[in-house]
Amino acid sequence: MNSAADNAAPGKNVDRAAIIRALQRVMPAHCVLSKPEELGPYECDGLSAYRQTPLVVVLPETVEQVQAVMSLCNEHRVAVVARGAGTGLSGGALPLAEGVLLSLAKFNRILSVDPVNRTARVEPGVRNLAITEAVTPHGLYYGPDPSSQIACTIGGNVAENAGGVHCLKYGLTVHNVLRLKVVTIDGELLTIGSEALDAPGYDLLALMNGSEGMLGVIVEATVKLLPKPERAQALLASFDDLERAGEAVAAIIATGITPAGLEMMDNPAIRAAEDFVHAGYPVDAEAILLCELDGTNAEVSDQIMRVRDLLLSSGAKEVRTAEDERERLVFWAGRKSAFPAVGRLSPDYYCMDGTIPRKELAHVLGRISEMSKEYGLRVANVFHAGDGNLHPLILYDANKEGELETAENFGGAILELCVAVGGTVTGEHGVGTEKLNQMCVQFETAELTQFHALKAAFDPHGLLNPGKAVPTLHRCAEFGAMHVHKGELPFPELPRF
Ligand SMILES: Cc1cc2nc3c(=O)[nH]c(=O)nc-3n(C[C@H](O)[C@H](O)[C@H](O)COP(=O)(O)OP(=O)(O)OC[C@H]3O[C@@H](n4cnc5c(N)ncnc54)[C@H](O)[C@@H]3O)c2cc1C
Repeated sequence: MNSAADNAAPGKNVDRAAIIRALQRVMPAHCVLSKPEELGPYECDGLSAYRQTPLVVVLPETVEQVQAVMSLCNEHRVAVVARGAGTGLSGGALPLAEGVLLSLAKFNRILSVDPVNRTARVEPGVRNLAITEAVTPHGLYYGPDPSSQIACTIGGNVAENAGGVHCLKYGLTVHNVLRLKVVTIDGELLTIGSEALDAPGYDLLALMNGSEGMLGVIVEATVKLLPKPERAQALLASFDDLERAGEAVAAIIATGITPAGLEMMDNPAIRAAEDFVHAGYPVDAEAILLCELDGTNAEVSDQIMRVRDLLLSSGAKEVRTAEDERERLVFWAGRKSAFPAVGRLSPDYYCMDGTIPRKELAHVLGRISEMSKEYGLRVANVFHAGDGNLHPLILYDANKEGELETAENFGGAILELCVAVGGTVTGEHGVGTEKLNQMCVQFETAELTQFHALKAAFDPHGLLNPGKAVPTLHRCAEFGAMHVHKGELPFPELPRF
């Protein structure tokens, strides 16, 4: 397993009792949790193979309290890990034994909705789906829709630059956030971005998206809202060949039509979802594609016919069009519950997240299936095919000795394959604790050095979520993935393993 504490951990030899007393001076006693039974629920996020009890948990109720906690931690050189709902799948919100876990759970208010400008101002602990629920009466919705949207928070979405089914057409979180309020490690409140089309200066707004709690704590977000389309219709296409389904995805995008969602599931995922929610999926198919088209009535009618023809000419055995809204939701119910459904196939599964150029889908899926045999572990694939964002779910049993390690190695090899074909080691789940080694494969020393410089500009003492997202150069040297430029070995003084 990867080492959770990668960077030199700040806050070693923290005086726990003194920190708790200091925290209790800046916030009400009920906002500071320190008993073992209170800390337990915070010991992991969605990547539950990694666990760590935090030093203490704080649940501030006001921005001023967040500022006070940050100033205090800065003064005492204590690390701070921000947490939303803890649904992250890469160990981003994994606590530190010597660090404060700062939960934004109490920041759960929608502050204002502006239907004319189509924006909403929300606190970071607001659940993703709660935004859409609040603005539905205005005929609006919030675009990015992670499958975890019922639980995950907008603060966590920004910190991970979360995606979802609709991101193919409507963009990731970064494309749907206009302005942020962020508390820095020294307690300053920054306003980043603007409600206007552009903001002068460096694009710190883009930088905060995907910053994984390493640069500041988000305390407010202004998000864009989209008008609900006149019509949305879904198609379900079944294939008896996984690679053909991959080719069909590339062919659809090549026509210039951008579906609102274009998702793929392979046979193990289809069977699991069908058993779980009875969505009417063809259980003998090797792959299904779910394609949603939205827009005006006329647009959707035209596109449905074109996509249907294209799917059939790409080798689909059958193409079904949802008859009505009920059936459209049933099609999606299977996809949306695919993760828990796959969870019933095996005691444990490991969800990977990598992105590849769409044209590589067929090749990479074929290779993953070969690797499944090499590593001796089954894989179910369910993913955002239109974005080239893969989610291989590696099935394993943590009670069998060595299986977790095999699953991790297999997962690492998949991510390295993504890099080799021109993709990236993360699509939407972030790097967190999980993918530090693969960051060494993705980036060269010069790029990692710039990441560290940027982090130091925001957080000179390395107190915000240390050990996550950006590996130390030392770790890359240990992992053996440091790039050698023109034969010059970087950091020759570091020991090699
Ligand atoms: C079943 C399931 C399905 C999922 N499907 C998707 C999907 O389709 N698309 C997708 O993108 N993700 C998906 N995820 C992953 C996860 O839901 C997202 O990464 C989500 O954005 C995390 O939000 P959270 O509130 O739970 O954040 P956490 O898990 O609590 O935190 C995630 C990261 O954000 C940081 N953070 C949290 N709040 C703040 C804040 N206010 N300020 C600064 N940093 C902060 C944390 O330090 C951590 O690094 C899925 C997870 C599960 C369990």
